[in-house]
Amino acid sequence: MRRKLLAILLCLAILCLGACTATVTESSEPESAVPSDVSAESTESELSEESDVSAESEAESAPESEEERPEPTTAAPTDLPTDPPTEAPTAAPTAAPTTRATTAAPADSRSVTEKGYEVVTRDGFTYVDGVLVANKTYSLPADYYPGDLTAECDAAYMRMKAAAAAQGLSLYISSGFRSYDTQDVIYNRYVANDGKANADRYSARPGHSEHQTGLAIDLNGVLDSFGSTAEGKWVAAHAHEYGFILRYPKGKEAQTGYMYEPWHIRYIGTANSVEVATAIYESGLCLEEYYGINSAYQN
Ligand SMILES: [Zn+2]
Repeated sequence: MRRKLLAILLCLAILCLGACTATVTESSEPESAVPSDVSAESTESELSEESDVSAESEAESAPESEEERPEPTTAAPTDLPTDPPTEAPTAAPTAAPTTRATTAAPADSRSVTEKGYEVVTRDGFTYVDGVLVANKTYSLPADYYPGDLTAECDAAYMRMKAAAAAQGLSLYISSGFRSYDTQDVIYNRYVANDGKANADRYSARPGHSEHQTGLAIDLNGVLDSFGSTAEGKWVAAHAHEYGFILRYPKGKEAQTGYMYEPWHIRYIGTANSVEVATAIYESGLCLEEYYGINSAYQN
């Protein structure tokens, strides 16, 4: 009698377990099949909540942290926006972090720059000698959303920051990763306030910002004066030792397409980042000149 009771209980337990498992399986399936924008939204909010140094500092210093701010001296208009939008969680990406556009992307291709470097276009991304390029000529897929600085970029930055600290210098990130949608808001706001021609000198159109790559960092106060501080001078002289280059050097607007930005550094992002960054640094050229590529919008 007792054995029978035990057997019944066991059966019930197995049935219950089966039912629970079935419930879990059922409920997880529809979730993963949810339309991409919904899952992307949740992914982004998770990411921004969990994000580290860069995202935190980005939020903290948002008012002064936007890329390609106008130079007060040369950007004449006085009604420039001084309060760029914060990295609002409502600016939902159109796809999950690792999703890459495949439908709208231009056909894959290979060519060679005027300096002999190979240009590979794949899934809407352009690599020159293996280096991902985002400028006015070469764009990124709208749904490319790494969500933060890449792990390699972040690690390299931390090494550089520690080396600077050992010299008594303080570096911090004002802006790191920025989504396509956030850039869309920022750029169009500059256009509305300052006109397209002016905005194009200091703000990237959505899909053309290096910040969307997760390989670009705006340092400290995002100020022109950064270049003449001890920190700015140290970064200019040593960033390449950690795989970074000053992306928009002084006097290179015609080549890079952007005004001088002493605060904006770019991690090369290849297996030999330090080697490449050092070669570019020693050449005295900006990225576009070094590889022999252009940075100009089609329209
Ligand atoms: Zn920047």
